[in-house]
Amino acid sequence: MKILGIESTCDETGAAVVENGTKVLANSLATSALEHARFGGVVPEVAAREQVKVLVPTLASAVKDVNFDSIDAIAVSYGPGLIGSLLVGVESAKALALAWEKPLIPVNHLVGHIYSNWLEAKRLPQFPLIGLVVSGGHTDLVYMRNSRDFNLIGSTLDDAAGEAFDKVARYLGLPYPGGPQIEKAAIGFCGVAGKNPFPVSMAGKDNSDFSFSGIKTAVVRYVEKNHLKLTNNYISMVAFYFENAVVDSIASRVKKSATSYKVRSLVIGGGVAANKRLRRALLRVASETKTEVYFPKIGFSVDNGAMIAAAAFFAGKPVDPLTIQADSGLHFD
Ligand code: AMP
Ligand code: MG
Repeated sequence: MKILGIESTCDETGAAVVENGTKVLANSLATSALEHARFGGVVPEVAAREQVKVLVPTLASAVKDVNFDSIDAIAVSYGPGLIGSLLVGVESAKALALAWEKPLIPVNHLVGHIYSNWLEAKRLPQFPLIGLVVSGGHTDLVYMRNSRDFNLIGSTLDDAAGEAFDKVARYLGLPYPGGPQIEKAAIGFCGVAGKNPFPVSMAGKDNSDFSFSGIKTAVVRYVEKNHLKLTNNYISMVAFYFENAVVDSIASRVKKSATSYKVRSLVIGGGVAANKRLRRALLRVASETKTEVYFPKIGFSVDNGAMIAAAAFFAGKPVDPLTIQADSGLHFD
């Protein structure tokens, strides 16, 4: 079964054709990240206008080498996300489905991130599993008993992990998106993880929620209190301890959930999943909890249309296109 997946929840525009939820036949992606760089974060109005500009060319490029008749269904990410961006993808998908007379499958963006791990995978995650979506807009933990069962068990109470990376990078004078910049700066510092001056958020609290705004504030206070001049050495040091604090916080929550839900797999998705320190920490968690950890293949951790097509294949069902609404909120139903 071939599905055309469409993604437009934030600043990426994706269209892809995927066979049986795993084989990527075509994948086209555009991003307006550079447009947002000078503001230090995504500007919703700018993101929506860029979606309008690039969605049709992105779609055209995805389907140009695929026989139109061979596409069995269209899938679209209906939310959560920025409402202006979402409307562009959702309304275009509805129009296409009606004009082409193809079934339309609405997909939750977070479910898409989890199923990004099925794309071009040599081995598939096993259920039950814990899904972790860590991105610029989300830090969410999901428990899945089977391929269609989603239970949100933890979420950030304030900033998303990627957002914290972006804000701290901006404070340190590093460009947007800040995650890769912090990761690069941290490599140059050889610190002692046990001596972290920044608090690991919510450490020890008995729940699976996250909070990252405290770490960000701690960074600013630390720099000001110690009158640090942001030279390369100090930037490296702050980046190292900040990255460690965020990674420890995420890894401890994943470990706790993996143990209490007795799962077989840990499935990671979202832009922050590219972070190597996080990957190493989650590999350790997997070995300690006797689970297997899965990361998306290169290119599928960022928002993309292929993951939406995969999620539609494994967990979606077609609905009347006219009933689909873009929905910015975070819930599964
Ligand atoms: P997404 O929201 O899934 O499109 O991912 C973008 C977010 O991921 C931004 O907040 C980036 O700063 C963050 N990000 C990307 N690469 C890395 C990395 N290597 N380490 C930490 N964060 C990252
Ligand atoms: Mg994005």
